[in-house]
Amino acid sequence: MQRIPLIQRRWTANHSGSMPLSGPLMDSFGRTHRSLRVSVTDRCNLRCTYCMPEEASFLPEKHLLSGRQMGEVVAVGVALGLDKIRLTGGEPLLRRDLVDIVHQLGQIRGIRDLSLTTNGILLRDLARPLRLAGLHRLTISLDTLNEGTFSRLSRRPGLDRVLEGIAAAKNAGFQGTKINAVILKGINETEIIPLADFARENNLALRFIESMPIGADPWDRQAMVSGPEIKKILEDMWGPLIPVPEQNPHAPAMDFHFADRPGRIGLIMSVTHPFCGQCDRLRLTADGKLRNCLFSLQETDLRDCLGSVTDTTGLTLRFRQSVWDKWEGHEINSARFLKPNRTMHAIGG
Ligand code: SAM
Ligand code: SF4
Repeated sequence: MQRIPLIQRRWTANHSGSMPLSGPLMDSFGRTHRSLRVSVTDRCNLRCTYCMPEEASFLPEKHLLSGRQMGEVVAVGVALGLDKIRLTGGEPLLRRDLVDIVHQLGQIRGIRDLSLTTNGILLRDLARPLRLAGLHRLTISLDTLNEGTFSRLSRRPGLDRVLEGIAAAKNAGFQGTKINAVILKGINETEIIPLADFARENNLALRFIESMPIGADPWDRQAMVSGPEIKKILEDMWGPLIPVPEQNPHAPAMDFHFADRPGRIGLIMSVTHPFCGQCDRLRLTADGKLRNCLFSLQETDLRDCLGSVTDTTGLTLRFRQSVWDKWEGHEINSARFLKPNRTMHAIGG
Protein backbone atom coordinates (compact mmCIF):
# COMPACT_ATOMS: atom_id res chain seq x y z
CA MET A 1 0.00 0.00 0.00
CA GLN A 2 1.26 3.44 -0.86
CA ARG A 3 2.14 5.50 2.20
CA ILE A 4 0.49 8.91 2.10
CA PRO A 5 2.48 11.63 3.83
CA LEU A 6 0.87 12.73 7.06
CA ILE A 7 0.05 16.23 5.93
CA GLN A 8 -1.67 15.01 2.77
CA ARG A 9 -3.86 12.62 4.68
CA ARG A 10 -5.11 15.46 6.82
CA TRP A 11 -5.76 17.52 3.75
CA THR A 12 -7.55 14.97 1.65
CA ALA A 13 -10.88 16.35 0.62
CA ASN A 14 -13.32 13.95 -1.04
CA HIS A 15 -12.29 14.72 -4.60
CA SER A 16 -14.19 11.95 -6.32
CA GLY A 17 -16.57 14.51 -7.87
CA SER A 18 -15.78 17.77 -9.61
CA MET A 19 -15.90 21.25 -8.15
CA PRO A 20 -19.23 22.99 -8.86
CA LEU A 21 -18.81 26.15 -10.92
CA SER A 22 -22.26 27.47 -10.14
CA GLY A 23 -24.74 27.33 -7.27
CA PRO A 24 -23.93 27.73 -3.59
CA LEU A 25 -20.42 27.33 -2.12
CA MET A 26 -20.31 23.58 -1.63
CA ASP A 27 -17.40 21.52 -0.35
CA SER A 28 -16.61 17.99 -1.41
CA PHE A 29 -18.54 16.56 1.56
CA GLY A 30 -21.74 18.37 0.54
CA ARG A 31 -21.53 21.13 3.15
CA THR A 32 -22.94 24.44 1.88
CA HIS A 33 -21.12 27.48 3.23
CA ARG A 34 -23.06 30.50 4.46
CA SER A 35 -20.87 32.15 7.06
CA LEU A 36 -17.72 34.28 6.84
CA ARG A 37 -15.66 35.61 9.74
CA VAL A 38 -13.71 38.67 8.73
CA SER A 39 -10.71 39.61 10.83
CA VAL A 40 -10.17 43.36 10.59
CA THR A 41 -6.91 43.37 12.57
CA ASP A 42 -4.58 40.94 14.33
CA ARG A 43 -3.78 43.53 17.02
CA CYS A 44 -5.25 43.37 20.48
CA ASN A 45 -5.36 45.44 23.65
CA LEU A 46 -5.48 42.28 25.80
CA ARG A 47 -3.20 39.24 25.79
CA CYS A 48 -5.48 36.35 26.80
CA THR A 49 -3.29 33.41 27.71
CA TYR A 50 -5.35 30.90 25.70
CA CYS A 51 -5.28 33.06 22.56
CA MET A 52 -1.94 34.76 22.01
CA PRO A 53 1.59 35.17 23.33
CA GLU A 54 2.45 37.94 25.74
CA GLU A 55 5.05 39.28 23.31
CA ALA A 56 3.18 39.15 20.04
CA SER A 57 4.35 40.50 16.72
CA PHE A 58 1.72 42.04 14.50
CA LEU A 59 1.23 42.54 10.79
CA PRO A 60 2.56 45.84 9.45
CA GLU A 61 -0.41 48.14 8.86
CA LYS A 62 0.28 48.25 5.12
CA HIS A 63 -0.38 44.49 4.92
CA LEU A 64 -3.95 44.83 6.21
CA LEU A 65 -6.82 44.80 3.75
CA SER A 66 -8.42 48.20 3.41
CA GLY A 67 -12.12 48.56 4.18
CA ARG A 68 -12.80 48.78 0.46
CA GLN A 69 -10.92 45.52 -0.20
CA MET A 70 -12.84 43.77 2.58
CA GLY A 71 -16.05 45.01 1.01
CA GLU A 72 -14.95 43.57 -2.33
CA VAL A 73 -14.28 40.12 -0.85
CA VAL A 74 -17.50 40.12 1.16
CA ALA A 75 -19.59 41.22 -1.85
CA VAL A 76 -18.27 38.28 -3.91
CA GLY A 77 -18.85 35.89 -0.99
CA VAL A 78 -22.41 37.15 -0.61
CA ALA A 79 -23.03 36.70 -4.35
CA LEU A 80 -21.93 33.07 -3.79
CA GLY A 81 -24.47 32.57 -1.01
CA LEU A 82 -22.75 33.74 2.18
CA ASP A 83 -25.27 35.61 4.30
CA LYS A 84 -23.75 35.67 7.81
CA ILE A 85 -20.81 38.02 8.26
CA ARG A 86 -19.01 38.37 11.61
CA LEU A 87 -16.28 40.93 12.15
CA THR A 88 -13.57 39.85 14.53
CA GLY A 89 -9.83 39.98 15.16
CA GLY A 90 -7.56 40.47 17.18
CA GLU A 91 -9.66 43.16 18.71
CA PRO A 92 -11.83 44.66 15.96
CA LEU A 93 -12.57 47.85 17.92
CA LEU A 94 -8.90 48.83 17.56
CA ARG A 95 -9.42 49.36 13.86
CA ARG A 96 -9.84 53.11 13.38
CA ASP A 97 -12.11 52.82 10.34
CA LEU A 98 -14.29 50.10 11.87
CA VAL A 99 -17.49 52.16 11.84
CA ASP A 100 -16.94 52.93 8.15
CA ILE A 101 -16.29 49.24 7.43
CA VAL A 102 -19.56 48.29 9.14
CA HIS A 103 -21.41 50.97 7.23
CA GLN A 104 -19.92 49.78 3.94
CA LEU A 105 -20.75 46.11 4.60
CA GLY A 106 -24.23 47.12 5.70
CA GLN A 107 -24.87 48.36 2.15
CA ILE A 108 -24.23 44.91 0.61
CA ARG A 109 -27.59 43.35 -0.22
CA GLY A 110 -27.97 39.76 0.87
CA ILE A 111 -26.32 39.91 4.31
CA ARG A 112 -28.90 38.51 6.72
CA ASP A 113 -26.74 38.81 9.83
CA LEU A 114 -23.91 41.31 10.36
CA SER A 115 -22.31 40.80 13.76
CA LEU A 116 -19.09 41.50 15.64
CA THR A 117 -17.11 39.81 18.41
CA THR A 118 -15.24 42.10 20.82
CA ASN A 119 -13.48 42.00 24.16
CA GLY A 120 -15.58 45.04 25.08
CA ILE A 121 -12.69 47.22 26.30
CA LEU A 122 -13.46 50.02 23.80
CA LEU A 123 -17.17 49.34 23.44
CA ARG A 124 -18.48 52.06 25.76
CA ASP A 125 -17.84 54.76 23.17
CA LEU A 126 -18.32 52.67 20.05
CA ALA A 127 -21.53 50.74 20.74
CA ARG A 128 -23.83 53.50 19.53
CA PRO A 129 -21.84 54.45 16.39
CA LEU A 130 -21.64 50.76 15.45
CA ARG A 131 -25.37 50.34 15.90
CA LEU A 132 -26.08 53.45 13.83
CA ALA A 133 -23.69 52.19 11.13
CA GLY A 134 -25.84 49.09 10.72
CA LEU A 135 -24.32 46.38 12.94
CA HIS A 136 -27.01 43.85 13.84
CA ARG A 137 -25.57 41.93 16.79
CA LEU A 138 -22.70 41.80 19.27
CA THR A 139 -20.85 39.04 21.06
CA ILE A 140 -18.73 40.20 23.99
CA SER A 141 -16.05 38.03 25.59
CA LEU A 142 -16.08 37.89 29.38
CA ASP A 143 -14.37 35.05 31.26
CA THR A 144 -14.71 36.37 34.79
CA LEU A 145 -16.33 39.00 37.00
CA ASN A 146 -13.25 39.20 39.23
CA GLU A 147 -10.67 41.88 38.35
CA GLY A 148 -7.74 39.82 39.68
CA THR A 149 -8.73 36.81 37.59
CA PHE A 150 -9.39 39.07 34.60
CA SER A 151 -5.85 40.52 34.79
CA ARG A 152 -4.37 37.06 35.18
CA LEU A 153 -6.24 35.60 32.22
CA SER A 154 -5.88 38.53 29.87
CA ARG A 155 -2.53 39.80 31.18
CA ARG A 156 -4.05 43.29 31.29
CA PRO A 157 -6.52 45.09 33.60
CA GLY A 158 -9.89 46.24 32.26
CA LEU A 159 -12.88 44.38 33.70
CA ASP A 160 -14.67 47.64 34.58
CA ARG A 161 -14.34 48.84 31.01
CA VAL A 162 -15.79 45.59 29.65
CA LEU A 163 -18.76 45.90 32.02
CA GLU A 164 -19.27 49.48 30.88
CA GLY A 165 -19.12 48.23 27.30
CA ILE A 166 -21.81 45.63 27.99
CA ALA A 167 -24.05 48.31 29.50
CA ALA A 168 -23.39 50.58 26.52
CA ALA A 169 -24.40 47.81 24.09
CA LYS A 170 -27.75 47.55 25.86
CA ASN A 171 -28.24 51.33 25.90
CA ALA A 172 -27.41 51.50 22.19
CA GLY A 173 -30.32 49.15 21.52
CA PHE A 174 -28.47 45.92 20.65
CA GLN A 175 -30.72 42.90 21.15
CA GLY A 176 -29.65 39.28 21.57
CA THR A 177 -26.14 40.16 22.77
CA LYS A 178 -24.07 37.09 23.59
CA ILE A 179 -21.29 36.59 26.11
CA ASN A 180 -18.43 34.19 25.32
CA ALA A 181 -16.46 32.63 28.16
CA VAL A 182 -13.48 30.26 28.10
CA ILE A 183 -13.02 28.36 31.36
CA LEU A 184 -9.65 27.01 32.52
CA LYS A 185 -9.06 24.69 35.46
CA GLY A 186 -7.67 26.37 38.55
CA ILE A 187 -8.10 29.83 36.97
CA ASN A 188 -11.77 30.70 36.50
CA GLU A 189 -13.86 27.59 37.21
CA THR A 190 -15.38 29.40 40.16
CA GLU A 191 -16.70 32.02 37.72
CA ILE A 192 -19.13 29.67 35.97
CA ILE A 193 -22.01 30.29 38.40
CA PRO A 194 -21.42 34.08 38.79
CA LEU A 195 -21.22 34.45 34.99
CA ALA A 196 -24.49 32.52 34.57
CA ASP A 197 -26.15 34.78 37.18
CA PHE A 198 -24.75 37.91 35.54
CA ALA A 199 -25.97 36.81 32.11
CA ARG A 200 -29.46 36.00 33.38
CA GLU A 201 -29.77 39.29 35.30
CA ASN A 202 -28.73 41.24 32.21
CA ASN A 203 -30.70 39.21 29.69
CA LEU A 204 -27.56 38.02 27.86
CA ALA A 205 -27.06 34.63 26.22
CA LEU A 206 -23.99 33.05 27.81
CA ARG A 207 -21.86 30.59 25.83
CA PHE A 208 -19.01 28.59 27.27
CA ILE A 209 -16.32 27.75 24.68
CA GLU A 210 -13.99 24.81 25.24
CA SER A 211 -10.39 25.96 25.09
CA MET A 212 -8.91 24.85 21.76
CA PRO A 213 -5.30 24.18 20.74
CA ILE A 214 -4.94 27.42 18.81
CA GLY A 215 -3.27 29.69 21.37
CA ALA A 216 0.40 30.44 21.83
CA ASP A 217 1.23 28.21 24.78
CA PRO A 218 1.31 24.45 24.43
CA TRP A 219 -2.31 23.35 24.80
CA ASP A 220 -3.09 21.38 27.93
CA ARG A 221 -6.22 19.26 27.53
CA GLN A 222 -6.27 18.77 31.31
CA ALA A 223 -6.56 22.54 31.80
CA MET A 224 -9.69 22.71 29.66
CA VAL A 225 -12.98 22.67 31.53
CA SER A 226 -15.13 20.74 29.08
CA GLY A 227 -18.72 21.48 28.10
CA PRO A 228 -20.05 18.42 29.97
CA GLU A 229 -18.11 19.46 33.10
CA ILE A 230 -19.57 22.97 32.90
CA LYS A 231 -23.04 21.55 32.37
CA LYS A 232 -22.69 19.43 35.50
CA ILE A 233 -21.55 22.42 37.61
CA LEU A 234 -24.59 24.41 36.43
CA GLU A 235 -26.98 21.49 36.97
CA ASP A 236 -25.62 20.80 40.47
CA MET A 237 -26.56 24.38 41.29
CA TRP A 238 -29.85 24.84 39.46
CA GLY A 239 -31.17 21.49 38.27
CA PRO A 240 -31.42 20.04 34.77
CA LEU A 241 -30.40 21.94 31.65
CA ILE A 242 -32.78 21.07 28.83
CA PRO A 243 -31.74 21.23 25.17
CA VAL A 244 -33.58 24.03 23.37
CA PRO A 245 -35.86 22.36 20.77
CA GLU A 246 -35.11 24.75 17.90
CA GLN A 247 -31.32 24.22 17.65
CA ASN A 248 -29.61 25.70 14.61
CA PRO A 249 -27.66 22.73 13.18
CA HIS A 250 -24.95 25.08 11.81
CA ALA A 251 -24.48 27.10 15.02
CA PRO A 252 -21.41 26.02 16.98
CA ALA A 253 -23.25 26.21 20.31
CA MET A 254 -25.56 23.57 21.69
CA ASP A 255 -28.20 25.64 23.50
CA PHE A 256 -29.91 24.77 26.77
CA HIS A 257 -32.47 26.35 29.06
CA PHE A 258 -33.07 25.71 32.74
CA ALA A 259 -36.08 23.68 33.82
CA ASP A 260 -37.45 26.27 36.21
CA ARG A 261 -35.49 29.48 35.92
CA PRO A 262 -35.00 31.92 33.07
CA GLY A 263 -31.77 32.13 31.08
CA ARG A 264 -30.08 30.28 28.24
CA ILE A 265 -26.69 28.61 28.23
CA GLY A 266 -24.75 27.63 25.11
CA LEU A 267 -21.95 25.10 25.09
CA ILE A 268 -19.42 25.30 22.25
CA MET A 269 -17.74 21.92 22.49
CA SER A 270 -15.26 21.97 19.62
CA VAL A 271 -13.02 19.50 21.45
CA THR A 272 -15.36 17.03 23.14
CA HIS A 273 -18.21 17.23 20.58
CA PRO A 274 -16.74 18.53 17.30
CA PHE A 275 -19.35 19.96 14.94
CA CYS A 276 -17.27 19.81 11.73
CA GLY A 277 -19.98 17.76 9.96
CA GLN A 278 -22.28 20.80 10.01
CA CYS A 279 -19.61 23.47 9.55
CA ASP A 280 -20.63 26.25 7.15
CA ARG A 281 -17.85 28.74 8.00
CA LEU A 282 -14.97 30.38 6.20
CA ARG A 283 -12.51 32.90 7.56
CA LEU A 284 -10.77 35.89 6.03
CA THR A 285 -7.59 37.01 7.79
CA ALA A 286 -6.75 40.69 8.17
CA ASP A 287 -4.06 40.31 5.47
CA GLY A 288 -6.43 38.84 2.91
CA LYS A 289 -6.03 35.06 3.26
CA LEU A 290 -9.11 32.86 2.98
CA ARG A 291 -9.12 29.91 5.43
CA ASN A 292 -11.62 27.09 5.07
CA CYS A 293 -11.15 25.92 8.67
CA LEU A 294 -9.92 27.52 11.90
CA PHE A 295 -7.28 24.80 11.97
CA SER A 296 -6.30 24.96 8.28
CA LEU A 297 -2.66 24.44 7.44
CA GLN A 298 -3.14 26.11 4.08
CA GLU A 299 -4.63 29.44 3.08
CA THR A 300 -5.78 31.03 -0.17
CA ASP A 301 -4.36 34.45 -0.85
CA LEU A 302 -7.01 36.76 -2.29
CA ARG A 303 -4.95 39.94 -2.54
CA ASP A 304 -3.85 39.62 -6.14
CA CYS A 305 -7.48 39.12 -7.25
CA LEU A 306 -8.60 42.40 -5.72
CA GLY A 307 -9.12 45.71 -7.45
CA SER A 308 -11.55 44.98 -10.26
CA VAL A 309 -15.21 45.56 -9.54
CA THR A 310 -16.21 44.46 -13.02
CA ASP A 311 -14.28 41.16 -13.15
CA THR A 312 -14.81 39.02 -10.07
CA THR A 313 -13.92 35.72 -11.79
CA GLY A 314 -10.61 35.34 -9.95
CA LEU A 315 -12.10 35.93 -6.51
CA THR A 316 -15.05 33.68 -7.29
CA LEU A 317 -12.79 30.81 -8.34
CA ARG A 318 -10.60 31.16 -5.25
CA PHE A 319 -13.66 31.05 -3.00
CA ARG A 320 -14.92 27.94 -4.78
CA GLN A 321 -11.55 26.19 -4.74
CA SER A 322 -10.90 26.97 -1.08
CA VAL A 323 -14.29 25.57 -0.09
CA TRP A 324 -13.89 22.55 -2.36
CA ASP A 325 -10.52 21.74 -0.74
CA LYS A 326 -11.92 21.82 2.79
CA TRP A 327 -11.06 18.76 4.80
CA GLU A 328 -13.57 16.66 6.68
CA GLY A 329 -12.73 17.86 10.18
CA HIS A 330 -10.15 19.42 12.46
CA GLU A 331 -8.73 16.22 14.01
CA ILE A 332 -8.03 17.86 17.39
CA ASN A 333 -8.62 14.48 19.00
CA SER A 334 -6.33 12.56 16.66
CA ALA A 335 -2.62 11.89 16.96
CA ARG A 336 -2.32 13.40 13.46
CA PHE A 337 -3.39 16.84 14.69
CA LEU A 338 -1.04 19.66 13.67
CA LYS A 339 -1.43 23.13 15.08
CA PRO A 340 -1.58 25.91 12.48
CA ASN A 341 1.23 28.48 12.41
CA ARG A 342 -1.09 31.35 13.21
CA THR A 343 -2.52 31.69 16.70
CA MET A 344 -6.17 32.63 17.27
CA HIS A 345 -5.70 36.41 17.35
CA ALA A 346 -3.99 36.29 13.92
CA ILE A 347 -6.72 34.14 12.35
CA GLY A 348 -9.91 35.69 13.65
CA GLY A 349 -11.99 33.87 16.25
N1 SAM B 1 -10.87 40.09 20.65
C1 SAM B 1 -12.22 39.69 20.47
C2 SAM B 1 -12.72 38.91 21.65
O1 SAM B 1 -11.94 38.50 22.49
O2 SAM B 1 -13.92 38.72 21.70
C3 SAM B 1 -12.45 38.92 19.18
C4 SAM B 1 -11.43 37.92 18.79
S1 SAM B 1 -11.28 36.52 19.87
C5 SAM B 1 -10.06 35.59 19.04
C6 SAM B 1 -12.81 35.67 19.54
C7 SAM B 1 -13.18 34.60 20.53
O3 SAM B 1 -12.22 33.57 20.47
C8 SAM B 1 -13.22 35.07 21.99
O4 SAM B 1 -14.50 34.84 22.52
C9 SAM B 1 -12.19 34.22 22.67
O5 SAM B 1 -12.58 33.85 23.96
C10 SAM B 1 -12.11 33.02 21.76
N2 SAM B 1 -10.86 32.29 21.86
C11 SAM B 1 -9.61 32.78 21.73
N3 SAM B 1 -8.68 31.81 21.87
C12 SAM B 1 -9.37 30.67 22.10
C13 SAM B 1 -8.99 29.32 22.33
N4 SAM B 1 -7.71 28.93 22.36
N5 SAM B 1 -9.96 28.41 22.51
C14 SAM B 1 -11.27 28.78 22.49
N6 SAM B 1 -11.70 30.04 22.27
C15 SAM B 1 -10.76 30.98 22.09
FE1 SF4 C 1 -7.42 39.65 22.30
FE2 SF4 C 1 -9.75 38.43 21.96
FE3 SF4 C 1 -7.47 37.06 21.86
FE4 SF4 C 1 -8.26 38.01 24.19
S1 SF4 C 1 -9.35 36.47 22.95
S2 SF4 C 1 -6.20 38.16 23.34
S3 SF4 C 1 -9.22 39.85 23.60
S4 SF4 C 1 -8.11 38.58 20.44
